[in-house]
Amino acid sequence: MRGRISEKTKERFKQSIRDVVKGLSRKIQVYKQPIKNECDNCYFDKLTSKSTGKCKWTIEEAENLQIDYEISHPGQIHYKWFKTGRCPICKGNGFLEIKRRVWINCLVTWNPGNNDETYTPAGTEGATIVQLKTDPKYLDLFINCSSIIVDGIECKMDKPPISRGIGDQAILVISAFTTQKPKVNSGEIIKEYN
Ligand SMILES: [Zn+2]
Repeated sequence: MRGRISEKTKERFKQSIRDVVKGLSRKIQVYKQPIKNECDNCYFDKLTSKSTGKCKWTIEEAENLQIDYEISHPGQIHYKWFKTGRCPICKGNGFLEIKRRVWINCLVTWNPGNNDETYTPAGTEGATIVQLKTDPKYLDLFINCSSIIVDGIECKMDKPPISRGIGDQAILVISAFTTQKPKVNSGEIIKEYN
């Protein structure tokens, strides 16, 4: 009996791997942790980790720096003089974030095992679960990511991804949940206040 069950499970994972390889998967976006660079336009305040609200340059310096910058970065503004207050380049943050995004192939299952409709992860009332299956080589990428976009919907990791199987027979299983708030007139909310 036990042997038959594990054989069945094994077969299911093999099928998942074949599905990913065969192209039943679709592309999802994974956002890596953004790179933070100190703003070149204003002085950084190390105590508050924010912009001091003071420009590093005179009007003329800022203009010349921007002219040079645009040669290598057409259409991008990186230097702009301001009197005092909010730096127009970093919006007062003191640093600039570079978003890094990659596209990878995954098998996507929305609401896996949805025969249990009451299931919601702790602290995420009304969220929807999505399960992804992909190549185990993406383990580090998913552990370190800041968010993922599946079918145009932003999701966060539910728990650390797990690799199932051994070697080239392994598959990475990822569980994530939607970060969008439930609609105000949805069933969940009405139930909650009754
Ligand atoms: Zn700045």
